Amino acid sequence: MPGFELIDNKEKKALSNLFDEGGVLFAHGFDALRKKYHVREFEENLSKYFESEHSLCVSSGTAAIKCTLAAYGIKEGDEVITQSFNFIATLEAIHDIGATPVVIGIDDSLNMCPDLLEKNITNKTKAIMPVHMLGVPAEMKKIIEIADLHNIPVIEDACEAVGAKYDNKFVGTLCDYGIFSFDFGKNITTGEGGAILSKNANLDKLVREYHDHGHQNIENLPRGLDLASRPGFNYRMGEMNAVVGKEQLKKLDFILEENKKRYMILNDGLSSVKDIKIRFIPDSALPSYDTFIFEICDENKREVIKNILINLGIGTKNLPDAIRWHCSYYWDYFLKDTNNAYAEETLIKLSKNIAIPIVLKKSTSDYQNLVQEILNVF
Ligand SMILES: *Cc1c(COP(=O)(O)O)cnc(C)c1O
Repeated sequence: MPGFELIDNKEKKALSNLFDEGGVLFAHGFDALRKKYHVREFEENLSKYFESEHSLCVSSGTAAIKCTLAAYGIKEGDEVITQSFNFIATLEAIHDIGATPVVIGIDDSLNMCPDLLEKNITNKTKAIMPVHMLGVPAEMKKIIEIADLHNIPVIEDACEAVGAKYDNKFVGTLCDYGIFSFDFGKNITTGEGGAILSKNANLDKLVREYHDHGHQNIENLPRGLDLASRPGFNYRMGEMNAVVGKEQLKKLDFILEENKKRYMILNDGLSSVKDIKIRFIPDSALPSYDTFIFEICDENKREVIKNILINLGIGTKNLPDAIRWHCSYYWDYFLKDTNNAYAEETLIKLSKNIAIPIVLKKSTSDYQNLVQEILNVF
């Protein structure tokens, strides 16, 4: 469920306190006017919660991806491999840095298919970016194995799976870099915002400099006299976003718990229907359970179920209604044809799926009711 459903007096009070405590809305400096550095605190809290070596807050998930590509020095002529069921942001970041996205197909988990990885690696491949779509971790063990074999870094896009785990570790911490988004539709939200989790101090330093005009933040130097050694940009998070983020993070355990209850009602209630194929979850994966996806080949029944979801006020999520923004088939306006090899089969596969959002405003009995209505279709 999206964190915005839980916004209450905690976030309001935190914002109001921010103004009472000096009202500095900038992450850096103004030391005499302020009592706290909320962006830096939010980063510490993220590192603690997700057991990450380092965390950097930025202005969006899309910016976060771009910062990691910049940190590796990825540029024109380089290739970055990602997947056909995706959000357009990954492709945009690769495009914006000047590199070429190489889009490979998906498996039954609806995430990057590791079996397609090896044959798409070339001597231009500079990074691999699997995306944990809609709460379910990808087959990371296989992906990391292949990447390691070729000595190519893996950037995990965990924007849609904040709180999910793989092999008992939070997604976003399995590779060199992990990306979170805190936009308004995500598991926890700062309105707009994102984070980059990284494995070591040097990786953290590179994205930290890039996201802040190249600032090296050299100790004891005032910001105006600070130095830079490479160009950067401004992708900073503001203090208002961070105070909201700190409160939202405290709610993540509750969000994950409530998600799972509702997801399991759908899972247990529908698993015996032979015409329904529930999305495959990899063995080592613990999803964040914020979306329940299933495939149903009969088009008429699919339409009936879609209408049930609309009538109950639950609706569908991304599949089918926002498929344009999540399937590479539609992105020929900036993808070369050769990158579309897997697009059509992904479109056909995704078109058979329905994504049910897990929302707090609907109770567990609402989801039980939904199961009954779906069962009645068969
Ligand atoms: C939301 C999202 C992003 C981008 O996040 P923003 O904060 O909205 O820029 C990137 N990748 C995926 C998979 C997403 O779902």
